[in-house]
Amino acid sequence: MHVTHADFSAASAVVPSSRLDAFVAANRFDKPTLVLDIDRVEAQYHALAAGLSSADIHYAVKANPARQIIERLVALGSHFDAASRGEIELCLSLGADPAHISFGNTVKRASDIAFAHQAGIDIFAADAEEELEKIAENAPGAQVYIRLIVDASGADWPLTRKFGTSRDKAVRLMNMARDLGLAPVGVSFHVGSQTRKPEMWADTLDQVAAIWAEALDAGHDLSLVNIGGGFPAFYGDEIAHPTDYAAKVMEMVRARFGDTPRVMAEPGRGLVAEAGVIAAEVLLVSRKSDDDLCRWVFLDIGKFSGLAETIDEAIRYQFTTDRDHEDTGPCILAGPSCDSADVLYEKRPVALPVGLKSGDRIVIRNCGAYTSSYSSVGFNGFPPLDVIVI
Ligand SMILES: *Cc1c(COP(=O)(O)O)cnc(C)c1O
Repeated sequence: MHVTHADFSAASAVVPSSRLDAFVAANRFDKPTLVLDIDRVEAQYHALAAGLSSADIHYAVKANPARQIIERLVALGSHFDAASRGEIELCLSLGADPAHISFGNTVKRASDIAFAHQAGIDIFAADAEEELEKIAENAPGAQVYIRLIVDASGADWPLTRKFGTSRDKAVRLMNMARDLGLAPVGVSFHVGSQTRKPEMWADTLDQVAAIWAEALDAGHDLSLVNIGGGFPAFYGDEIAHPTDYAAKVMEMVRARFGDTPRVMAEPGRGLVAEAGVIAAEVLLVSRKSDDDLCRWVFLDIGKFSGLAETIDEAIRYQFTTDRDHEDTGPCILAGPSCDSADVLYEKRPVALPVGLKSGDRIVIRNCGAYTSSYSSVGFNGFPPLDVIVI
C-alpha cells in the first residue's frame, strides 16, 4: 500500500518515504521500533517554512526529542519551543542558540525558570498571576506572552481547557506583567493538535484578535502573535499540503493582525509525524465467541508503549501488513499490557487482512510524533519504544 498526501502536486519536496518502508522490509526487529527518516523531517521543515514565510518556526520538542531531529533542525536554523528544563538542556547541548528557545509551558518550576534565564533564554509563556510572579523573580525583565483559552476548533486532539486564560483576564495579566517589570510582548494560543483544515483556524483567530485589540486599547505595545501548533499529519483523512496549509493560516493571521507583529509557529506533529513508522508485531488473533463479528488483534505495542494518542480513539493510525493483497475484516485492536485500558480501537474497528496471524509484521504509519516521547519506561516489563534513525 502506498500512502500519499491528498494534494501531492503542490511541492515536490514532500514525498512518502519509501526509504522507511525499504528499511523496515529489510530488517528484523525484536521489539516495537520507531524508524525515523531525518531527511523527511527536513523536507517537511522546508515545506512548512515555505508556507509560514516570515514566521519563526519553534519546533515543539515534546513531539519527538530524538537528538538527530534536534541536530538537523538546529542546522536548518529552526527555533525551539521547550516544555521543561530537560528539553532546554537537550536543545542547548545540540547547539541551539538560547535566543532561539522559548519556554512555552505555562506551568514551570521556579528553579527551571532561573536555569533558563541563566542559560540566556528570554521568552516565557504565562497564563496566571503566580506564574508571572515566578518569572519576575527568577527571570527579571524577561519577555512574556499570555497564553489564551480558545474554544474547541474541531481538532482531533484538542488542547483547549488545561492551558490559557480567558478573555476577561488577559489584559489584567499583561498589566500585572508590566507592573512586575516584565515585558508583555504578545499572546499565544493552541488551536488544537491535528487541526485537519486551515479553515478551522478562523474562529480561533477571531477570538485572539479581539483580545489583541483590547490589549492595544489598554496601551500595551504588543509585537508577537504565537500561533502554536495544530498543523496536521496524514492519518487517512485528506489534508492539505503543508505549504498550502501554512500559507492559508498565515493569510488568515495577516488579515487579522496586519504585517507588523512577529509571528511564531510551534509545529510538533506537522513537522515530524510523517517522518516515522513503527514496526510492530501481531502477538495474537482471537475471537471471544464463535459468533464474534470482530477478531481481537493484540499487538506488541499499545497505549503505554507509544500509542497513547489512541486514547478515546482520537488519533487513528493507519496500518500496513505483508497481507494487504488479501480481503479484510473488522478487528478490535489492543495492546499487550495486562489492563483493560490498553484497547486501541474498539468503537470504530480497524479493517485488517483475514489471514492475519501471530508473528506477522504490522507497520503503523506516520508515527513520528507523540509516540517515543509517550512510551513508558517499562510498564509490565515491556521495553520502551526503540528508536532507529536512518
Ligand atoms: C504541544 C504543543 C505544540 C505542538 O502542537 P502540535 O499540534 O503537535 O503541532 C505547540 N505549542 C505548544 C505550546 C504545545 O504545548
